[in-house]
Amino acid sequence: QQALSGVVQAGDLAIDATVGNGHDLVFLAKQVGIRGHVLGFDIQTAALQQARARIAGAGLGERVSLRLCGHENMVAALPVEWPGQVAAVMFNLGYLPGFDKSLVTRAETTVIALSQALSVLRAGGLISLLAYRGHPGGAAEVTAVDAWLAQCGRQCRVVRHDSPGPILYLVERLA
Ligand code: SAM
Repeated sequence: QQALSGVVQAGDLAIDATVGNGHDLVFLAKQVGIRGHVLGFDIQTAALQQARARIAGAGLGERVSLRLCGHENMVAALPVEWPGQVAAVMFNLGYLPGFDKSLVTRAETTVIALSQALSVLRAGGLISLLAYRGHPGGAAEVTAVDAWLAQCGRQCRVVRHDSPGPILYLVERLA
């Protein structure tokens, strides 16, 4: 959120690729302001219910749309005027805390979603991605993300922040 706060401005379009409990969604909705908009994706009804309640509680419902849909379908679900105009796409991988831990993000679909996210960003736009290695499939997902980033070439600038826990990737679209 700190890295994105300098990138996502009032009036911007932004995407939350893993809505979950809606914490990042609230952050993005505040950043885009009353004239901006945030589109959020999750595969779980429970997640969207939690997030909807959080957004409504913060009085930000007007600037948010939610899709019960995998982020690997992001481009197809986007309004026609969004591609090339998106300021940021946030990914917080893994499972929904407090719910079914088998409903996790998966390497195969995560890299599809990353390609789509990069394709819809404006120049200077940012993908943030938080990845966890502790759950089944988590380490493989990190390997897949690293492989995807390695083939991005000069299209983007990547910063990887390692920690004993999650890894934070910041991917800036250059042109
Ligand atoms: N960003 C959230 C927040 O601020 O509360 C936390 C996200 S949680 C760690 C990960 C979420 O990704 C879960 O709610 C899970 O249902 C969702 N998810 C799993 N696979 C997905 C997919 N293919 N597309 C979109 N969301 C997915």
